[in-house]
Amino acid sequence: MNSYDVAIIGSGPGGYVAAIRCAQLGMKTAIIEKYSTLGGTCLNVGCIPSKALLDSSHHYEDAVKHFEEHGIDIPGEIKVNLEKMIARKQAVVDQTTGGIDFLMKKNKIDVYEGLGAFKDATHITITGKETIEIEAKNTIIATGSKPSSLPFIKLDKERVITSTEALKLKEIPKHLIVIGGGVIGLELGQVYKRLGAEVSVVEYMDRIIPTMDAGLSKELNKVLKKQKFKINTSHKVKSVERKGDEVIVKADNKKGEEVTFIGDYCLVSVGRQAYTEGLNAEAAGVKLTDRGMVDVNEHLQTSTANIYAIGDVIKGAMLAHKAEEEGVFVAETIAGQKPHIDYNLIPGVVYTWPEVAAVGKTEEQLKEAGVAYKTGQFPMRALGRSRASMDLDGFVKILADEKTDEILGVHMVGARAADMIAEAVVAMEYRASAEDVSRMSHAHPTFTEAIKEAALAATGDRALHV
Ligand code: FAD
Ligand code: NAD
Repeated sequence: MNSYDVAIIGSGPGGYVAAIRCAQLGMKTAIIEKYSTLGGTCLNVGCIPSKALLDSSHHYEDAVKHFEEHGIDIPGEIKVNLEKMIARKQAVVDQTTGGIDFLMKKNKIDVYEGLGAFKDATHITITGKETIEIEAKNTIIATGSKPSSLPFIKLDKERVITSTEALKLKEIPKHLIVIGGGVIGLELGQVYKRLGAEVSVVEYMDRIIPTMDAGLSKELNKVLKKQKFKINTSHKVKSVERKGDEVIVKADNKKGEEVTFIGDYCLVSVGRQAYTEGLNAEAAGVKLTDRGMVDVNEHLQTSTANIYAIGDVIKGAMLAHKAEEEGVFVAETIAGQKPHIDYNLIPGVVYTWPEVAAVGKTEEQLKEAGVAYKTGQFPMRALGRSRASMDLDGFVKILADEKTDEILGVHMVGARAADMIAEAVVAMEYRASAEDVSRMSHAHPTFTEAIKEAALAATGDRALHV
């Protein structure tokens, strides 16, 4: 029987990063994945394919709507070749997952294809083409998550679909009904909106992206409405019925009136849930929470001391980079180091265009905690860079402590916000004040000048270009 210092179950961004760090630290490492490709949700049916389709559809929209204004004439009709678009996405996925194979080999990590199930706290049975057993001094559970649904919805995966099917549709929906105005609904909704679908978002809460700062919800809502999204907030979905090629969604609005949506596809994007099916966690004494997540302490250790868990299968934001940080954290913990993660500084991004990005506390959180804060906000449209590229929507908002001027939260909507948020993370990691950032040179012309300007605005209304 093969024996390891560490076995990792699940090869998503949590699992494969944990494996690499364990190997770097000199531990004999194995990774177990039930699918034939490594990379988990993120690489196969999540982050990477969704961004590939967002990029392709963005190019199409630019060609149709903006090229002419830029002085680019395209003779003839511009058409979408959906089959080719999906094939390109798949090629990107294949190349990326292939890269993980390379990294496993490079780091001398043994890869097992099959379902990993605990036999006891130190033995794992792997059921693939054959059944084998391995021994592991330590195990890291990194089994991720799967889409959630609502109890009355029958996901037929043809017309009533999750994100997984939405990434490989064979036709552009005429009318896509999106249940849940969170990250997945808006990102994939925007892909098909750009390709020509009518998109109706049906959201239970009173605003889209409800966990982010309310200012971001408002701005994104405004922009998406300009893009002709139909957004229905405060709508409680009560039934979803498939009739032939039609999907009929019924919801109650704020006034309690019944509203009916008829479309040809319905994307259910109401969140994701921890995945532990087939893991046989109880055989190893690993306890789950009442919401089905693996229960962990501050060291990400489960109820069994030599078994850890990371990523979507435990509490916290379901984000690839959060899973990665936890992978490194656990590898270093097992190696006897004392690592640290500041969960307040894990940024959140929505890859619509304009992009939405945030780190730290929202205004709502600061108010609730009774923290006195000041706000500096700067509109993207005031930047020369924004006018040059015609990306005028959005703003950067900096929240700083009223007394100390320490930056407590940065929230932005705008072109390339996903990349810009890194500056805010660095600033907050080093506990910068708004004045610190306002005194740093930002290259001109760039979108990042909005960060400097928002910092100036927070430091006594000193923005220069408004
Ligand atoms: P996963 O990536 O889910 O990997 C878990 C792996 O474990 C899977 O491969 C699974 O097959 C395997 N597994 C499960 N049980 C077993 C078992 N018993 N034996 C063997 N293998 C097993 N996050 C971002 O940060 N940015 C984004 O842009 C982004 N976009 C997304 C878009 C979509 C459409 C979706 C669905 C998600 C997106 N996410 C994004 C979220 C991100 O994909 C997850 O947070 C991330 O993949 C979690 O990583 P993980 O390692 O915890 O689990
Ligand atoms: P989400 O939590 O972002 O959004 C779900 C939305 O559905 C929320 O707005 C919620 O209020 C709404 N909702 C819940 N129940 C509802 C109901 N009965 N009727 C109508 N609306 C309802 O979840 P998601 O969009 O499904 O994404 C799942 C996870 O994947 C997220 O946790 C996210 O972190 C991750 N993800 C991240 C990215 C990214 O980082 N860019 C992209 C995609 C997915």
